[in-house]
Amino acid sequence: MTNTTNAGTNTAGTTGTDGTTTTTAGSAARTVAAYAAPAPKAPLEKTVVPRRALGEHDILIDVRFAGICHSDIHQVGEDWGDGIFPMVPGHEIAGVVAEVGPGVTRWTVGDRVGVGCFVDSCRECDNCRAGLQQFCTGAGGTVFTYNGVGRDGEPTYGGYSSQLVVDEGYALRIPEALALDTAAPLLCAGITLYSPLSRWGAGPGKKVAIVGLGGLGHLGVKIAHAKGAEVTVLSQSLRKREDGLRLGADDYRATSDPAVFTELAGTFDLIVNTVSADLDLSAYLGLLTAGGTLVQVGAPEKPVTILAQALLTGGKSLSGSMIGGLPETQEMLDFCAEHQVTAEIELIRADQINEAYARVLASDVRYRFVIDASTI
Ligand code: NAP
Ligand code: ZN
Repeated sequence: MTNTTNAGTNTAGTTGTDGTTTTTAGSAARTVAAYAAPAPKAPLEKTVVPRRALGEHDILIDVRFAGICHSDIHQVGEDWGDGIFPMVPGHEIAGVVAEVGPGVTRWTVGDRVGVGCFVDSCRECDNCRAGLQQFCTGAGGTVFTYNGVGRDGEPTYGGYSSQLVVDEGYALRIPEALALDTAAPLLCAGITLYSPLSRWGAGPGKKVAIVGLGGLGHLGVKIAHAKGAEVTVLSQSLRKREDGLRLGADDYRATSDPAVFTELAGTFDLIVNTVSADLDLSAYLGLLTAGGTLVQVGAPEKPVTILAQALLTGGKSLSGSMIGGLPETQEMLDFCAEHQVTAEIELIRADQINEAYARVLASDVRYRFVIDASTI
């Protein structure tokens, strides 16, 4: 159900055949249907959450699809520290503009838009000015899409909900060539792999390894392949080998076989590690060419350790990467439209979210769960 309570008098609404209330004017605060974890580690359940009245530059988005990122599970579980509850996760959001504030210039009703991991930032610090809003150092810092606090002092609630209000500058255009359901995961998983693959020059003549064929990893394979790199998947087993090759990998190896680490020693210019489990990164550094880089994007709960010698020998680099800023996220969406890169998804109803979480934790995801928001 996606009907919303429009608690205002200046709102003209029409109810579509799918039950979605589309407002064409007005700016009232409202409550919207959502799925939330009421407490740390608790199963998600149906509820309602507030959405602010549309400000001058705000847009109201009818959420159509929301991807389930492993980060959602980490945050519900407080793996990275205290969370704000009830928590409505979801930062892979694809939808349609339903209403615009009076000062909005970028969007009109009906536009196809995406929202990723953040919904605001200071706009004035060096990082914001450089388009790296995910690293905002201004007052209040980056406002994350959920489990954060907005500049109004209110908690943010994410995409597992029927509608969302965001500043017009923090929505991205989803090109017509991309379907909304398979595009949703691009807003986090896609940009998280696109950014390091671009920064470290994945392209023709470069050998790239992607560690872990999950939500992030499978998009890493597709994007690296589309950029022209030679791609190898380093997975725990060979169970998903056929899929990996179909998605664009040139080779697929099981890291459970220790021989892989001698056979492939000194092979890769770039390794992107999407795994949050505690891997022996020193062993992976051994797979790099001299001067090669291992980029960590998986976010483990505990500190990682490496042997200094694994870096010194060959003058290798260990780096990290976190999503991407607004300009690069738009660039990624346009790249994906041009190269027809989208996520492989399992579309689920909202009442299947808890089951999906269990399957992600069991590495049983092919390759991203996406919630059909019409079932919220
Ligand atoms: P996912 O869909 O669960 O994929 C993770 C993959 O890691 C699994 O499919 C599995 O691949 C591998 N894996 C799982 N457990 C493992 C273990 N014990 N040992 C070795 N490999 C294991 O998760 P995701 O959504 O892609 O997210 C991955 C990580 O990235 C999470 O920590 C998430 O929070 C983080 N993340 C970071 C950013 C960022 O900006 N840096 C953005 C989004 C997410 P195989 O079966 O192929 O081995
Ligand atoms: Zn994510």
